[in-house]
Amino acid sequence: MEKHDQLQDALHSLKNTKVRMTPQRHAILEFLINAPTHPTADEIYKALEGKFPNMSVATVYNNLRVFKEVGLVRELTYGDSSSRFDSNTSHHYHVICQDCGKIVDFHYPGLDEVETLAEHVTGFTVDNHRMEIYGKCPECKKKQQH
Ligand SMILES: [Zn+2]
Ligand SMILES: [Zn+2]
Repeated sequence: MEKHDQLQDALHSLKNTKVRMTPQRHAILEFLINAPTHPTADEIYKALEGKFPNMSVATVYNNLRVFKEVGLVRELTYGDSSSRFDSNTSHHYHVICQDCGKIVDFHYPGLDEVETLAEHVTGFTVDNHRMEIYGKCPECKKKQQH
């Protein structure tokens, strides 16, 4: 989906909820949709504090929670690092840079057969699975070479 359409879509679906749209909310949502790196609340705050001097990290966090509750963003937690936020709520995998922590989307067919096999072997009813791929991003590789 085009970024512009995605924002319009998100704004439209917010209209059908009780969530009130404020300039800050709009800016946070827009930033998140245009950011391919799955930013943390802190990164969003730093990017927008010039525009909204009265905004705090807590405000950003609360707004992200609201978006999460209405299903517009996904919260990603990896280990003990702070949560990152993803405006792409459809099924996809993540490739994570172990040097800078950047997360990039990776589209690959869902590993349904792994879920089926896990059910057969363990007797569980499987609802979901997580797969993360770790490595070094092109930027960090470049830094290392020079
Ligand atoms: Zn990196
Ligand atoms: Zn993602």
